[in-house]
Amino acid sequence: VTFDSFNLDPRLLQAINKLGYENPTLIQTQAIKLSLEEKKDIIAKASTGSGKTAAYCIPIVQSILAANSSESQIQSVVLVPTKELAKQVYDYLNQLTIYCGKNIKILNLNDNASEQVQLSLIDELPEIVVATPSRLVTILEKNKRLDLTQLKYLVVDEVDLILSYGHEEDLNTLTNFLNLKQNMQVFLMSATLNDEVNSLKETFCNKPAILKL
Ligand code: AMP
Repeated sequence: VTFDSFNLDPRLLQAINKLGYENPTLIQTQAIKLSLEEKKDIIAKASTGSGKTAAYCIPIVQSILAANSSESQIQSVVLVPTKELAKQVYDYLNQLTIYCGKNIKILNLNDNASEQVQLSLIDELPEIVVATPSRLVTILEKNKRLDLTQLKYLVVDEVDLILSYGHEEDLNTLTNFLNLKQNMQVFLMSATLNDEVNSLKETFCNKPAILKL
């Protein structure tokens, strides 16, 4: 399998080439197909090193480019357990979108900018928002400017860590702000698939494909 076989936008393919990737990893092959062709929710047992970040970032970027909308809208939220990981995923998304010009704006809600600055960036309607659950919920509860009702993709990365850090309640609160199971695709990525992770599956997913690689 090659990246060419996914019908990706040339701007995205060019970025993948620049990253030096020759072939998709196993999880990428499966997740990109299931997400883009079958619009499936995905639960993946995947740890760092598997290429899991690209497995959800590539479908997100592709879907934004394919929609080709001139109107900005918050389309994707990526939740991660820590501020450090938020920065990593934010940087990675910027690499994947370097040939996309201003078509894709990415906001890291954990980047230490003042709340005023972040609210003004929210007003610019970034296509992709990266955050920890607690930071996202804090911002959602404080003001009404962050509208997640039109979300197309929700990613919860390192679910097991998010739960072990005690963020289950934040995830439950978040559901009040989403239109779950309505044209929204969900990715749950976790190094382990235990009962706790499974309970999130019921909350967030609709007949998910389960990838154990
Ligand atoms: P991750 O599992 O998402 O933390 O990725 C681990 C590392 O693998 C990162 O440095 C990625 O840039 C790299 N990587 C991801 N996908 C590929 C690929 N298809 N080919 C080569 N390296 C990759």
